[in-house]
Amino acid sequence: MTLELSRQEIIDLSRQTTLYEWTSQKAMKPLAIDHAKGIYMWDVDGKRYMDFNSQLMCTNIGHGDARVNDAIKAQLDRVAYVAPTVATTAPRAELGHLLKELTPGNLSKAFFTNGGAEANEKAIKIARWYTGRHKIMVRYRAYHGATAGAITLTGDPRRWAAEPGIPGVVRIPDFYPYRAGRDLNDDAYADEVLRATEEIMQFEGPHTIAAVLVETVVGTNGLLIPSARYLQGLRALCDKYGILLITDEIMSGFGRTGKWFAVDHWGVVPDILTMAKGLTSAYVPLGATMVSEPIAEHFEDIPLYAGLTYNAHAVGCAAAVACINVYKEDNLIEHAAHMGEILKAEFARIKQRHACVGDARAIGLFSLLELVKNRETREPLTPYNPKPSELGPMPAFNAFLRENGMVAFVRWNTVFVNPPLCITEEQLREGLAIIDQGLEIVDRAL
Ligand code: PLP
Repeated sequence: MTLELSRQEIIDLSRQTTLYEWTSQKAMKPLAIDHAKGIYMWDVDGKRYMDFNSQLMCTNIGHGDARVNDAIKAQLDRVAYVAPTVATTAPRAELGHLLKELTPGNLSKAFFTNGGAEANEKAIKIARWYTGRHKIMVRYRAYHGATAGAITLTGDPRRWAAEPGIPGVVRIPDFYPYRAGRDLNDDAYADEVLRATEEIMQFEGPHTIAAVLVETVVGTNGLLIPSARYLQGLRALCDKYGILLITDEIMSGFGRTGKWFAVDHWGVVPDILTMAKGLTSAYVPLGATMVSEPIAEHFEDIPLYAGLTYNAHAVGCAAAVACINVYKEDNLIEHAAHMGEILKAEFARIKQRHACVGDARAIGLFSLLELVKNRETREPLTPYNPKPSELGPMPAFNAFLRENGMVAFVRWNTVFVNPPLCITEEQLREGLAIIDQGLEIVDRAL
């Protein structure tokens, strides 16, 4: 840094000279962060914040781990970058090997990208090429990234500005038992959703459908956990019609759900699995599209027309290798599963205490409270895609969290709890107590 800037100068200069994402610029109220360690971040005035969302559900191992920092520095000193069309490096080789071991079934080769959206772009391109079909089936309650194809795959309002988007994207029903007035493990509900999905496949013509692409556990669109019957049923439907199953594990991968990948909970093996975020815990940008053996084999003799200048960036791959070693050394996957059980019990208590909590969903350290106006009718606390004036008590609730040194992800009528996986039981309870207290603001507004 060449300038010595105060907190306010950092905020003002950023506002004057840079653009923030997904927001009107006027509405953005950023923190000015100076440094971070573990689950905490400090602003330039020294105020400490608990990171209860792992930033964008990505700093899974926590901030400032010296093992990853050192690996990045060492790789920079050796070689930062080689052209992927010319050379390979040891980190690329080692990361490919590690991912083949960690991902389920016959997933066997990785194509490395700069992030999640590109991983999904490569996934649909590969699926179309491999099958010779062009349609991709996706859901409404879904986010898959902001590049041209990925934002079309996205079902939430973030896609509207990019419409009409890429051709050939068809939507299938969401799996959302709570909003359907059903339980997660209601098999009849899973069968209904699958029947409707199959009907859409029939209408579209299965021979035109390359892939079904889903977030294994839906992230920002409501933390929607599939039942075994639904996810296994979706796999079976794909198999029945020769359609590829692509699971987007960009948010749900790398221990977030208490397993390496969320699909591991249900024994489902996709044909393509996309990842980013937890792959490097966001120390540097990296994503990957992991393909099955038959798909990899397909490109043995024909060219894979996919490329990026920073494909398999050596620093990114070195960071990912170091990060995966941290998950293993610190048993973070098992720890997340254990913390997830404590979280679930605390959520049950919070739900009992607060009339505004309609549903509490959690799998590992991937979790959310869904707030309602009325528990009986399940009427959401805010409308879908609310205007600022329709947010009710949510801004006051969010402000309470900030004042109390917590950064959580509050979207519409939902409150996410997705801390770094290294969180201790004490820290988890401390953070949940702040949320518990803040919900009194919401209860009072009902
Ligand atoms: N897919 C999912 C499920 C995501 O949550 C995200 C980002 O939040 C993406 C894809 C896009 O990843 P990126 O922002 O790295 O392009």
